[in-house]
Amino acid sequence: MKNITKGYINGEFVTLHGTQIFNLINPTNHQPVGQVTLGDEEDVQRAIAAAKTAFKSFSQTSVATRIQLLENLKQAVNKREKELIEVMILEYGGTRQFCTMSLQNAIASFDNMITTLRHFEFQRKSGNTFIQLTPVGVVGIITPWNSSNSFICSKLATAIAAGCTVVVKPSEMSALQTELLTACFHEAGLPKGVYNMVNGLGNVVGTAITNHPDIAKISFTGSTVTGKQIARSAVDTVKRVTLELGGKSPNIILEDADFEQAIPQAVFGAYMNSGQACIAPTRLLVPKDRLETVNQLAKAAAAHVVVGNPADAATNVGPMVSEKQFERVQHYIQVGLDEGATLLAGGPGKPAGLEEGNFVKATIFTNVRNDMRIAQEEIFGPVLSIIPYENEEDAITIANDTMYGLAAYVTSANEARALKVASRIDAGRVCINGFKHDPMAPFGGFKQSGLGREFGVYGLEEYLEPKSILL
Ligand code: NAD
Repeated sequence: MKNITKGYINGEFVTLHGTQIFNLINPTNHQPVGQVTLGDEEDVQRAIAAAKTAFKSFSQTSVATRIQLLENLKQAVNKREKELIEVMILEYGGTRQFCTMSLQNAIASFDNMITTLRHFEFQRKSGNTFIQLTPVGVVGIITPWNSSNSFICSKLATAIAAGCTVVVKPSEMSALQTELLTACFHEAGLPKGVYNMVNGLGNVVGTAITNHPDIAKISFTGSTVTGKQIARSAVDTVKRVTLELGGKSPNIILEDADFEQAIPQAVFGAYMNSGQACIAPTRLLVPKDRLETVNQLAKAAAAHVVVGNPADAATNVGPMVSEKQFERVQHYIQVGLDEGATLLAGGPGKPAGLEEGNFVKATIFTNVRNDMRIAQEEIFGPVLSIIPYENEEDAITIANDTMYGLAAYVTSANEARALKVASRIDAGRVCINGFKHDPMAPFGGFKQSGLGREFGVYGLEEYLEPKSILL
């Protein structure tokens, strides 16, 4: 049991003014693993004041200084990688496979920003006008629980690269992970007030950050519903906002694909991060006349999905983060049944022998229509919908018939054809023939999946204001 009573303000772990307690529960077995004291408005005020003061000098630092700080941060996080993975498995219930990858991404985000900075032009010229890209100010960073430390590292790295200072509010369910990460940041020796962190609830600490006039920008990752609330409260002070929101990503398998390979890959892909992934390909679009073959392959693949203890290296799907999330996924499985979709694998209830944690059966529905709720709404659990299409045109129409547009996937034996299809999908990221990651390419959503982009040059520019100086 760990008792976390402190936030991190102005270069120190400090006791918070807030007194409300939140219990941290291991999602694998419902055992308590800790308690966290939640901050309040007064804590937010202090954190923002520290970040505001630090911004005065930090915004003037050289690129070389900031590259050195990013290097120090990378080394400090790298040193405690193993502990960070273990605490993520314990508190979040992420599988060892996923937590390992997530930490690698977190560490790489510092290097990616160093590379970006080395080639970035903060001074530009347009005709006779000088353009200076200046840091936007104090950034409020609000993150979800599904890959907490990698979001914090990536957003902090970008802020530091730009010369901004930050106040972070992680999910209250990620307090153990954030405390360890903050200890790493402390060791890296950032100037006082550059990084501040207040644990707390969204409607208390989160709202205090989004309403505060001294916050110039919000970088948010989380649900579309919350993203809209944040954008609304940010408007009064015309804050810049970057929103990384939900998804319901289509995975189009064209009829010339190798189904024996593509279908099992699609099933395992849908269950990435135990299905709690914004980019998970949860709508599998397949040719109608091949549906029987797809069903057989998908069912066989589901039988190989290991649901269980996330600490085991072989586990593909761990528990849902909380009982609330478990109930949400159960609700959607029932909705799928009520809507008349055909249950191909899994279904309601917990898998046998896993009654102690928030475990869900690896579930597949087939014969799903795209207008069903299970095809339109983000479930955020291991539930895949197989949707048949008539032809390529129909597949593209179905893929785009969603309020989301975060990611999409296309599989074909003909790369040129897949590329043509990809260019017609309304999504911020389209992967061809497999699940790919490019940490330097812009990441973000079309439509209600978000606003703005993260990573690389596009991500950095979101933390900068262009100033034109006319001679
Ligand atoms: P959430 O929206 O419930 O919470 C995210 C964060 O916002 C938490 O820290 C929460 O405390 C805070 N928050 C809640 N209400 C707030 C308010 N009114 N003002 C300010 N802050 C507030 O999301 P979640 O359940 O933690 O995470 C799951 C969601 O995140 C899914 O919808 C998923 O798709 C999305 N997500 C998106 C991406 C992406 O990059 N696009 C990545 C991961 C997760």
